[in-house]
Amino acid sequence: MNAVAVTDHNSLDGAYKIAKETDFLIIPGMEVSSADGHIVALNVKELITRGLSAPETVERIHKAGGVAIACHPYVYFKGCLKENVCSTFDAIEVINSRAFPFKRSVRKAEETAKKLGLVRVAGTDSHYGPQIGCAYTAIDADAPSVEAITRAIVEGKCEPFGKAVPINENIALEYHRIVRMITKRVHS
Ligand SMILES: [Zn+2]
Repeated sequence: MNAVAVTDHNSLDGAYKIAKETDFLIIPGMEVSSADGHIVALNVKELITRGLSAPETVERIHKAGGVAIACHPYVYFKGCLKENVCSTFDAIEVINSRAFPFKRSVRKAEETAKKLGLVRVAGTDSHYGPQIGCAYTAIDADAPSVEAITRAIVEGKCEPFGKAVPINENIALEYHRIVRMITKRVHS
């Protein structure tokens, strides 16, 4: 793995903070809660307004010089785009390791990618360090830089790989989340 995209929900602070703290290549971005579902914006330097329609959000991301990705478009428990994925997206996440039900979500996203002629990418959607890399996108970029990588995605020089997060790791994630919640309560 040569780079990781960091995309907190509706915030850019974490991505730019970690990019400064490490010499590992970070592709900064955010996951925007649009009115139609979640949208990943890569390589944006300004916050993208939440709550707009999917086409409007994609337009804002492009104006900000970023790449718009339809993330986990077919899952049950997250804000997913479903039929709101449109052809103006730069790419669609066909594999999301935490998508449930996994096989169905991959199949539906592949169908949409084919129908709209969209570039296909994959991601773990990791909320917990050890899960990173469970799904990944092989990218044929000219250089190890944010600009070159995001350009290669737009040009479709990439291929998605990966699998679902093992169920025991999902349990580990939930365990850590609950411990954090309890710790927060104890300290506040
Ligand atoms: Zn999401």
